[in-house]
Amino acid sequence: MDEKENQNVLEGMCPHGNFPDSCNACVTDREQASKAVKDERQKIAERVAQSFSSRLCEYLTGMTPDNPAMVERLQEDQKILRSKYRLPSQDLPPAEFQRALKRIAKSIATRIKPTSEFGKFFKEYPIADAVHFENDRQIGVDINRDDLREYRRSLSRLEHELIHGLQNQGAPSMPIELKEYEAYVANMNVDYMKAHPEDIDDILFGALVGASVDLYYQYESQKMGKEILPEWNNPAFFLGRDGIDPSKIKNVGAEQNFGQEDF
Ligand SMILES: [Zn+2]
Ligand SMILES: [Zn+2]
Repeated sequence: MDEKENQNVLEGMCPHGNFPDSCNACVTDREQASKAVKDERQKIAERVAQSFSSRLCEYLTGMTPDNPAMVERLQEDQKILRSKYRLPSQDLPPAEFQRALKRIAKSIATRIKPTSEFGKFFKEYPIADAVHFENDRQIGVDINRDDLREYRRSLSRLEHELIHGLQNQGAPSMPIELKEYEAYVANMNVDYMKAHPEDIDDILFGALVGASVDLYYQYESQKMGKEILPEWNNPAFFLGRDGIDPSKIKNVGAEQNFGQEDF
């Protein structure tokens, strides 16, 4: 308040110089202040309720998976990634495509072996269907030629693991989230995602990138003997970016009673 406003208040008037009970400017001030508080609470509630897959998507792309621009972004990233890693054209017949992948494997001195040679790993992590071991440059994957669909699918899995091999050579310190995003988006079925944009959340960032990232954190936690958690899987990480003090979560949490959401 400036001097004039101080004087107003001393004389029993509001800071605008009106009678406090009948001042429209005071009403507007109060309404705006309460709207700001409400908006902030709503944002906090949204951040607390945000799912693992939505957080992962936003961490990687800056967009939530329901953003209508997401499909186009994925399509664009796929083009960039296929050219960045010099991956063979997906229009090639599968046998030729496979030969091209084998050449890439050779160029990074990586051996491709059937999953049965890594029984221990696949027993411990039954959700995994292929693996890349960076230290000894080996990929475990089964190439299934029973039918064309399965053949193409298993080549996609091989390509996925090869991308990890290439990342390891070119950018070993790339965060796991980005590694998995690149490896899945490079050979994701864009037409399917265009027809089912709702699956970007559940399938791409949930069952695929999300599950692989989660597996990595489990694997690392076990290796380190303590729980390693992703920095982004909590509301405070994003509230900080929203410009909201994360300590305010407690107030909203207590009032609205979010129950068992853990953060
Ligand atoms: Zn007033
Ligand atoms: Zn992967």
